[in-house]
Amino acid sequence: MARDNSLMDAIVALCKRRGFVFQSSEIYGGFSGLWDYGPLGVELKRNIKETWWRDMITTHDELDQPEGAPRRFQMVGIESSVIMHPRVWKTSGHYDLFHDEMVDCRETNKRYRYDHVKGRWVTHEGRRLFVTTVGGDDLQAALQERALRFFGLKNKYADKLEWDGEIVDLPTVRDHTEVLGPDAKELGSLTEPREFNLMFETHVGAMRNDDNKAFLRPETAQGMFVNFKNVVDSNRVKVPFGIAQQGKSFRNEITPRNFTFRSREFEQMEMEFFCHPEESFKWYTYWRDRRFKWYTDLGIDASKLILRDHEQDELSHYSVGTADVEYAFPFCEKGEFGELEGIAHRGDFDLRSHMEGKLVREGDELVVEKDAEGNPKYPGSGKDLTFFDDETKDRFVPHVIEPAAGADRTVLAFICNAYHEESITNEKGKEEMRVVMKFHPRIAPYKVGVFPLLKNKPELVAKAREVCNLLRPHMAVFYDEGGAIGRRYRRQDEAGTPYGVTIDFDTLGENGDESKDTITLRDRDTMEQKRVKISELATILHEKIDFKHWAQ
Ligand code: ATP
Repeated sequence: MARDNSLMDAIVALCKRRGFVFQSSEIYGGFSGLWDYGPLGVELKRNIKETWWRDMITTHDELDQPEGAPRRFQMVGIESSVIMHPRVWKTSGHYDLFHDEMVDCRETNKRYRYDHVKGRWVTHEGRRLFVTTVGGDDLQAALQERALRFFGLKNKYADKLEWDGEIVDLPTVRDHTEVLGPDAKELGSLTEPREFNLMFETHVGAMRNDDNKAFLRPETAQGMFVNFKNVVDSNRVKVPFGIAQQGKSFRNEITPRNFTFRSREFEQMEMEFFCHPEESFKWYTYWRDRRFKWYTDLGIDASKLILRDHEQDELSHYSVGTADVEYAFPFCEKGEFGELEGIAHRGDFDLRSHMEGKLVREGDELVVEKDAEGNPKYPGSGKDLTFFDDETKDRFVPHVIEPAAGADRTVLAFICNAYHEESITNEKGKEEMRVVMKFHPRIAPYKVGVFPLLKNKPELVAKAREVCNLLRPHMAVFYDEGGAIGRRYRRQDEAGTPYGVTIDFDTLGENGDESKDTITLRDRDTMEQKRVKISELATILHEKIDFKHWAQ
């Protein structure tokens, strides 16, 4: 899939036009890396989160295990606080390790993520430099423009530039003195890379000093680890079992970009699955495959989705295996994908850290990191976080499999996947382009649109309202009486509403008793229309929308 910026622009425009996603604080010029969901977006996101919650927790039945599960298991949820004890982040490793490398430009005072700066060697009249950029529709075109400007050349002299090698990442260039920063006019303005912690800091209580410094959580996962013992003690769950949570996380990303894909405030849907160490690889494979299938079951085009196993050198210091579910977003370069979810085998790293103290790798072992005096650098809670299996009489530190998804990235993937431009013959027999959002009915913001054919016929309006009242207890209904019927269909196509119900004169019985109390039911994707009895409408829609998965 080639990077398609015009497609991405069209999607972003639709999101604003129809009320899916707005820039945060837009009337003040927006606030980088922060986004708001509009009326349609909030419904879509709630449906996606609800679908995840039901599929992972509430409809999960340990007596009726899905095929392939090695052993029965329970699933429960929690909701933990966004601000947690600062020691959580010290023992988890986020305080020391959760950072990106960044470079500053001394000339422009701009800051870039080190691994996001890309460039290429170029020579003109014997002068050689490494020209850089952080993006653009076409990297080579952006680099060429920068190089021409630096050498003071007009576009027509582009062939005077001698390019050398491929476009590569800035970290491949050791010496920054010959580097032209992405927005700089002079060479050598970029600093050496420096570490930048991604956690947002705050202060708790009246004083503002280091003693009461706290952090907004950069992931929801720690809430599950620190509550492991509470959940075992209060809910009588037995290993293997999972604890899940959805909630906001915050990362001070250096270069937020690609619409909502990399935001500074975002929501996660994470689950920590606690199992016996000897069974952990079976569970890892099970969750990896099950999570991939979740996306395709909800309509994500399988040809744009990959399950990518991490290479050994990509693995976190604690992980014994990680796979990412990745989607070919329109903003990705050809052959590249963006991460939607990571499924990690975290071993016993987390529970052990919260018992013993922050762990570091020494050869094949994870050992407690010591300070200069030989004491644990960041001591753990000292609480017993082992599990005692009263059937096998075995006591052990459970291993953890973590499927960690981003709600906002998932919403964005469903939006990109749903977006279709189609040339159609409209209701009046004319050729026209329509934009249609082909959401799976389970996640569509509204399930059905109800339209009286004419708004100035009180009998039609009254009947349409009656149909709305009939359907509303079952599903999200959108009522629309404004404008020509074709225009109303197009609006619902853009909203992704899978079904449309039109109340016309036949419904009122004006064309005989046979069609009285029938409506036309329109299918968003095929645009086919069928006459259906009002009395059967709710049942028909229930079947089509696959309610067994998501209705109360
Ligand atoms: P990336 O490499 O893209 O920064 P990550 O590997 O650090 O992501 P995780 O820490 O594994 O991400 O977080 C789990 C999930 O949370 C990700 O798969 C993603 O869906 C979501 N996520 C992480 N960072 C962001 C962000 N800045 N904006 C939106 N979603 C995010």
